[in-house]
Amino acid sequence: MGLADVATAAHDAASLSEVRDRIRRKILTWYVWMGLTLAVVESALNFIEGRHALGIALALFSLLIAVAALFIEKKPERSEFMGVLATFLMLLGGFVYIFESGFISYLSWSFIFIPVAFALQGVRRAVAWVCLLVALASVIFLAYPESPIGPVMLREWAISFVTVFLFALLFQFVREYYEGLVVRLNQRLETLATTDQLTNAYNRRMMENLLNHELDRQEADQEDGFSVVLFDLDHFKRINDTYGHQVGDQVLRSVADLARERVRPSDYFGRWGGEEFLVLSAGTNVATATEIAERLRVAIREHDFAHGDSLSASFGVSSLAQSDDLDSLVRRADNALYEAKARGRDCVVTASSQPEAS
Ligand code: GH3
Ligand code: MG
Ligand code: MG
Repeated sequence: MGLADVATAAHDAASLSEVRDRIRRKILTWYVWMGLTLAVVESALNFIEGRHALGIALALFSLLIAVAALFIEKKPERSEFMGVLATFLMLLGGFVYIFESGFISYLSWSFIFIPVAFALQGVRRAVAWVCLLVALASVIFLAYPESPIGPVMLREWAISFVTVFLFALLFQFVREYYEGLVVRLNQRLETLATTDQLTNAYNRRMMENLLNHELDRQEADQEDGFSVVLFDLDHFKRINDTYGHQVGDQVLRSVADLARERVRPSDYFGRWGGEEFLVLSAGTNVATATEIAERLRVAIREHDFAHGDSLSASFGVSSLAQSDDLDSLVRRADNALYEAKARGRDCVVTASSQPEAS
């Protein structure tokens, strides 16, 4: 994974999917505890009303659900499996309870299952889960000899079930639409926040983030260093003065395209200021960075720009030294660039690896 990914895109995506995971786990926990509460209440009621066998059966059943709930808390990675298991336990237990007691209140649990399935599994899989649940329930229902649920009650339940199902489906579509919207807007904002509008290169803010991120990485992992190449177009003001600002803009775009094509895939290229650009080259020593700078210098020098005039740039190169921070590293590159201008422009100057006193 590249630095840019770590710094922005992947970070956001990861936090988004983390949030999604956390919500799913919350719903699942809530759902299983709800089933547990229902079972405990029914168990207590049966004890109070003298149906001890049913009370004990429900208490044991509650224990099973509690185990599932604890398992979900302790082993979140297996939580969906346990959620499904708890569902089928609740289904079986619920039916036995309804048939034995004649109390159909437990059927209300089937309505809770629908929105939970949608929230956890998305539309397609939730529909499959609901169909499976209905099929299983039908098998149990038909297999059971004397059901206390008559045809009228069954019809009432079916109508309610379909109503809840349609509501949940509608709600899920709306939810997914907004989730997609948030992701798209997030991507758009991220692009706006990290790229320079004129050249499409990374902007200064992003380059500073990347530099800081790389500095942190070096500190933490003792990686193999990195270098920066700072370059500034020579006599750029003349282009603006001679051909106009729009041509100047076009030249900046061409330089950015040209440089972006020539840096290595692992390097980062951004616009540091007006007609000043910066390359961050990870794992590169000063000699390699100087070669990269020299290659860019020649490429700019030899490029046929649309306005017909040749163009050159001056380069300053610095490599990370012990005790460097962002400011000192960039300042050395900047001083080297200044030196390159003083030497007559169109050249590369490499900074000494000793940070200068500030
Ligand atoms: P030097 O070789 O010393 O760098 O000379 P220079 O003319 O390049 O430097 P100077 O700092 O005098 O001028 C930089 C010019 O860059 C001035 C400014 O108008 C121009 N510039 C900065 N940003 C943009 C931009 O986005 N578009 C255009 N067209 N010009 C820009
Ligand atoms: Mg300039
Ligand atoms: Mg400048």
